[in-house]
Amino acid sequence: MRKIKIDLQGKVALVTGGSRGIGKAVALRLAEQGAEVVINYVRHRGHADATVAAIKAGGGQCLALKANLADESSLTAMMAELRRHHDRLDILISNAASGVLRPVLELTSHHWDWAVNVNARALLLLTQQAAPLMTGGGRIVAISSIGSVRAIPGYTVVGASKGALESLVRHLAVELGPRGININTVRAGVVDTDALKKFPNREEILAGSMARTPLGRLTTPEDVADVTLFLCSELAAMVHGQTVVVDGGYAVHG
Ligand code: NDP
Repeated sequence: MRKIKIDLQGKVALVTGGSRGIGKAVALRLAEQGAEVVINYVRHRGHADATVAAIKAGGGQCLALKANLADESSLTAMMAELRRHHDRLDILISNAASGVLRPVLELTSHHWDWAVNVNARALLLLTQQAAPLMTGGGRIVAISSIGSVRAIPGYTVVGASKGALESLVRHLAVELGPRGININTVRAGVVDTDALKKFPNREEILAGSMARTPLGRLTTPEDVADVTLFLCSELAAMVHGQTVVVDGGYAVHG
């Protein structure tokens, strides 16, 4: 009889935006299973320090690296710093996201560039720099949202960037599969993190999401982290280039 155990001992994982919200939950899950975790953040050192402390308190290892993933030189400097601490990378979680909420007619090219660069281009650049470190194969998971396939008022640039992200994952899957690098997307339902505070209709979004979710509750950061962990495990060895929806059935509700 085969006992199922997810063991990430000896693995090194990078979680972008791993300092709070969903990224923090993912970083904790990976660390709990034995991975050495590198988290990235851009502005709020306090959250990053708290996540590092939480992982260390649980007996894990964690390092926080500051970088603006919209900026290629900052991203490259972060990867150089990662290489000073680790000679390998096994897991990359592309989770950090940003972007303004504006009506279409108020959007500028700056808004577009910012959202697309942080939310989609960063995965391309990170993958290019991570792949040579994934000498024993690797796992990459991109965190997306339902805005990739649905039009949400005000969410235009973020939604479009998530559509690009999901397409990028499929293209990367075809080219990276032969290198033993397995890549998938987790598309999450509404999760009550700091990101939701940017929505003027936060309460309405939360209530609407609850009402439409057949499983009767909101998706939590831990729900997203559990599926991400599964995709990083041997259990998901043949899941590749897919978008896994974690939303309690919200998206299939008619
Ligand atoms: P949060 O806003 O709570 O956290 C965002 C994280 O990303 C922080 O660690 C932040 O760092 C970091 N970050 C933001 N901009 C940059 C940047 N330019 N460079 C580097 N790091 C950056 O987000 P969530 O936890 O809510 O979301 C995480 C992921 O899940 C995102 O991809 C999001 O689109 C997706 N998602 C979220 C949903 C939700 O309802 N919350 C639903 C579906 C998907 P700092 O703290 O320093 O600013």
